[in-house]
Amino acid sequence: MKIAIIGAGVVGVTTAYMLAKIGHEVTVFDREPRAAMESSFANGGQLSYGFASPMGTPGLLGKVPSILFGADPAFRLPSTLSFDFMKWSLQFLRHCQPGQSQIDAEQLAALAQQSGTVFRQILSETSFDFGHRKANKLVLLKSAKDLEKAAAPTPKSIERVYREVLPWKDCLQREPALRNYNGEVAGGVWIEGDEVGDAARFSEQMVAFCEKAFDVQFSFNTNIVGVSAKEQGPQELSLSTGEILTFDSVVVCTGVAGTKLLQALDIRLPIYPVMGYSLTAPLGSNPPQVAVTDAGYKIVFSRIGDQIRIAGFADFGIASEERRRQRVQDLIRTVRQLIPDVADYSRIESTWIGARPATPSSLPIVGQSKVPGIYLNMGHGMFGWTLSAGAAQNLADLIGPATRASRAA
Ligand SMILES: Cc1cc2nc3c(=O)[nH]c(=O)nc-3n(C[C@H](O)[C@H](O)[C@H](O)COP(=O)(O)OP(=O)(O)OC[C@H]3O[C@@H](n4cnc5c(N)ncnc54)[C@H](O)[C@@H]3O)c2cc1C
Repeated sequence: MKIAIIGAGVVGVTTAYMLAKIGHEVTVFDREPRAAMESSFANGGQLSYGFASPMGTPGLLGKVPSILFGADPAFRLPSTLSFDFMKWSLQFLRHCQPGQSQIDAEQLAALAQQSGTVFRQILSETSFDFGHRKANKLVLLKSAKDLEKAAAPTPKSIERVYREVLPWKDCLQREPALRNYNGEVAGGVWIEGDEVGDAARFSEQMVAFCEKAFDVQFSFNTNIVGVSAKEQGPQELSLSTGEILTFDSVVVCTGVAGTKLLQALDIRLPIYPVMGYSLTAPLGSNPPQVAVTDAGYKIVFSRIGDQIRIAGFADFGIASEERRRQRVQDLIRTVRQLIPDVADYSRIESTWIGARPATPSSLPIVGQSKVPGIYLNMGHGMFGWTLSAGAAQNLADLIGPATRASRAA
């Protein structure tokens, strides 16, 4: 089949690999000049195969009053409460209820684990250099009550992950770099085997690999402004230049940006942008080896090669330029105070602002849309880097391998 993919973020390039590998003729379009220039660019770098949990939890419900009053440092609400946000929030609050949140957690954990298996398979077939390594992970928890909850029996789907709930003194043994940690912390969850790596470097190398190994075509600087809805026959893509191209199928991997494109086909997806920020700096005097997540502040620390990437916060909606700049400064101030010596903050190399394509359940939308021939791989939220390989495999399994007839057409 002749397949078009819209979007060359980490999800789009991995989908291209999976579909090309099973014989499809794939063309990828992206409005940016290179792969992974938007939400995949400088994310936290954590491949959380053993720890992907939904944003919507009963614990978050308890924080709603402080979030509403802007008192929680990790969250900000949009400055104007639009209809889209209110609708999304109501669905999100439903996913924070204990029963639903547990169902989402199990599905997310299962997809994350599957993704780890697929990712390692991809790496065994390629030789990419993107600062990838097994780092293990410590998820820091604030209170004794949080530790108690974390020690509760794990759902079936995550039984295979080796996790240990540790008091703070044992956390320090596993990661001595945390000895100067200034946050409120009672202990943590140790996750054996989690990995780190740079998503943008991976994506760029995936582009080169797909071009060479499978003759995938990449068309950058190409904005797709329309997708036709045909019951049968080829699908039409309209480019901003006015050109119209035809394909047997289209896969939409546009992250936060695709909802408008799809609305024209009456496909309405519950994807809302949740902004986050990152900084990349040289290692400090006391850099961690382990990937660290502070669950309270929603901040992650990853050592990637000879740099440290620190990412965090969850601001709903696309904030104004001024607010975004201010939040980057908030992040720098917070982490300098929280953990002063992991990075050389006097030599920050870059800062970044990105938007997570979040669904109310935190689960991505992967599958056939209601329009035949148009497939979706979107809404990977806080864990798009982690989930990309598993989601791409699931989509490729659904479309199936190219048949001899479709290759000849
Ligand atoms: C601060 C922060 C930290 C994060 N940390 C982690 C982490 O540690 N681990 C993890 O697993 N995940 C993390 N994430 C989440 C992860 O980065 C995202 O879920 C993931 O990058 C989404 O990938 P994507 O390919 O769907 O979207 P994108 O990377 O945004 O790709 C979509 C692409 O579609 C293109 N596009 C859109 N519309 C059009 C159009 N009309 N025509 C042509 N092209 C179009 C865009 O140019 C873009 O390149 C983090 C996110 C943020 C913001």
